Amino acid sequence: MAIENGSDRLYLGIDVGGTKVQASMVRESGEILTRQRRKTPRNEEPERELQAIEAAIDDAIAAANKKLKDVHAIGIAIPGVVDPRKGHVVVTPNMNLGGIPIGNHLRQRFEVPVAVGNDCNLGALGESWLGAGRNAKSMFAILVGTGIGGGFVRKGKLWRGARDAASEIGHTVIQIGGPLCGCGNRGCLEALASRTAIERDIRQAIDDGRPSVVSELTKGDLTVIRSRVLRKSLKAGDAVVTEVMRRAAEVLGYACLTVRHLIDPEVIVLGGGVIEACGDFVLPVVRQIVDADRLPGAREGGGVVVSALGDDAVVLGAVALARAAAQGNRAGFLAGQGRQ
Ligand SMILES: [Zn+2]
Repeated sequence: MAIENGSDRLYLGIDVGGTKVQASMVRESGEILTRQRRKTPRNEEPERELQAIEAAIDDAIAAANKKLKDVHAIGIAIPGVVDPRKGHVVVTPNMNLGGIPIGNHLRQRFEVPVAVGNDCNLGALGESWLGAGRNAKSMFAILVGTGIGGGFVRKGKLWRGARDAASEIGHTVIQIGGPLCGCGNRGCLEALASRTAIERDIRQAIDDGRPSVVSELTKGDLTVIRSRVLRKSLKAGDAVVTEVMRRAAEVLGYACLTVRHLIDPEVIVLGGGVIEACGDFVLPVVRQIVDADRLPGAREGGGVVVSALGDDAVVLGAVALARAAAQGNRAGFLAGQGRQ
């Protein structure tokens, strides 16, 4: 169906993160006009968090010299479990948006259709639309940051599963009886290879008396060890960080191997803050493990690549969701894409 002036449509993509809210005005083609960031209020009432999201939206519209009426639809990515049909947030472990009907709230506040999705799912959708998976018919993305999330996109559509809980690769158990994960289970991929797990292992080594440049780079405050600190430490040849990162990279390699055996996507995309900062170190380790696959019948191809969109992947995925819903003419949609 031809859409009149469809190419001129503008969308608002929002990536609600644990530390910042990014809002961007984006053309139908995926061209990003503005990137506006606001700090996410920490441990505040949901109203304050909603205010920060609304302020980021207002900022993005103003920075693009546009008006609210120019916005065709809003797509928003939430770090947690969402009910995409109702546009509700079910749980957000690092924020206080649990139970908030964010889709309805924003639709009433801004009077435009709103599509709501999980941040990692939408990061995968963004990479599939315009990033490292754009030429692949099927793509699985693994995003490594504070936690680990994933997304599976086939023929441009996100696979959400029967109960909207697919692709939670971060909570597949890699080590039975392993370290406790934020989800309550033990030995999840996230408990072994996320930045949180990497931080824990570095802290442990320093507590055990091993020297590390991390102590200087963080000025002794080891509560949060940022991805850029990991990068600098690897560059400096720090033994503790190199050892911990190698182990995390190996675990990620086996996770990629599992994805390959389970769904055999055309391409696996690695992204997220840890990969953005330390991809040069992680990728060769991952590829070595995937390439050494001995499963009879495992064929060439199905490579692992690094995200092409970086920080913009989630925002563009949120726009892709809103765009698909708009093209499907779902009036006042909340959910975006329907069930597969
Ligand atoms: Zn878990």
